[in-house]
Amino acid sequence: MAKALVIGAGGVAGVTVHKIVQNHEVFDELCIASRTVSKCEALKAELDGKGTTITTAQVDADNVDELIALIEKVQPDIVINLALPYQDLTIMDACLATKTHYLDTANYEPEDTAKFEYKWQWEYREKFEQAGITAILGSGFDPGVTGVFSAYAQKHYFDEINYIDILDCNAGDHGYPFATNFNPEINIREVSANGSYWEEGQWIETKPMEIKKVYDFPEVGPKDMYLLHHEELESLALNIKGIKRIRFFMTFGESYLTHLRSLENVGMTSIEPIMYEGKEIIPLQFLKAVLPDPASLGPRTKGKTNIGCIYRGKKDGKEVNYYVYNVCDHEECYREVGSQAVSYTTGVPAMIGAMLVVQGLWQKPGVYNVEEMNPDPFMDALNVWGLPWKEDFAPVLVSE
Ligand code: NDP
Repeated sequence: MAKALVIGAGGVAGVTVHKIVQNHEVFDELCIASRTVSKCEALKAELDGKGTTITTAQVDADNVDELIALIEKVQPDIVINLALPYQDLTIMDACLATKTHYLDTANYEPEDTAKFEYKWQWEYREKFEQAGITAILGSGFDPGVTGVFSAYAQKHYFDEINYIDILDCNAGDHGYPFATNFNPEINIREVSANGSYWEEGQWIETKPMEIKKVYDFPEVGPKDMYLLHHEELESLALNIKGIKRIRFFMTFGESYLTHLRSLENVGMTSIEPIMYEGKEIIPLQFLKAVLPDPASLGPRTKGKTNIGCIYRGKKDGKEVNYYVYNVCDHEECYREVGSQAVSYTTGVPAMIGAMLVVQGLWQKPGVYNVEEMNPDPFMDALNVWGLPWKEDFAPVLVSE
């Protein structure tokens, strides 16, 4: 029996807490804490009486002392960080101070520089080792399941993996001309940044959306997809043996891109502060305030996501191609937990990673990316908790 403290009460956290309550045989107690406590209370009201004892709390996760006081009061077995990437380090500091295990779904990013990388969190390795606690980084879908898929491929099907293409397809339609499926600020920062991929030991940088391919996704059909930088490229390049190249592609529709270009052209996606009526505002944060809340897309979104990885490498001297992917249906997710598939595919792996930590299966003092842990129990749990995966040993490859 374990107690989880979830920080954040947005789209992803909503799914994770539903899954924690479904898994009440492992998680008998849960505290949901966030900046806006009414969102935590709404989740509690929905899930009370379903097997897990739930409490709520207000916390500013930018404030380490507040976090320490909360963790000391709640005494959780693990802190699941589902706030924003900006809070990763303060929450890790509070976990260190209280010797509590930590898990998140996105790597740290300073609020004033749109540059996400693992270096800040990897600097905590020794401190977590010395404190005897585990930090699991990036236990969402991508990063998260894509890392677990990679560890599984490496363990079972390859002696060396030379090429990885990660393909993230969202064919959902929410009916709005423009909206983002998760936090708009984080999403727009990600897609308006330069792209990059890892090849022969170095990063090759591209302009935003410079490389476009078309891929015929199983159960979805052909979609345009664009090469982006994505955080798991950095850790997989180090943790998977024999890597020559890793790329990440995400699908975008024409309408999304046209809107994004217009917003960029008028300066609305900038993170540089401007003065507006005597007050300093950040255009991207203002844009977030006028866009639909991702949580409101759930009831409107139809269609499927397909996220997976194509591997090319060698086993016993022979060439092997392997594609492993999950297909998730937006409407089914909504019926089950009241969220669309983008939050669902992130929230479920967060619960699974936390479960494996509290069960001791993924406990190892230090700071780890998911692919450094045994993938087998995670792969089994994906099938049990709503993200079943499929394999194809003769996939169509992404064109060069
Ligand atoms: P939301 O914006 O919907 O939710 C974020 C939540 O964090 C809100 O409840 C917000 O509170 C809370 N929060 C923000 N700042 C603070 C703070 N200082 N103190 C306390 N609480 C705070 O985001 P999502 O649920 O869409 O995303 C959550 C995380 O998941 C993000 O880090 C995102 O990058 C990551 N993610 C990972 C994916 C993956 O596959 N690995 C995919 C999608 C998302 P308030 O309500 O007051 O704003």
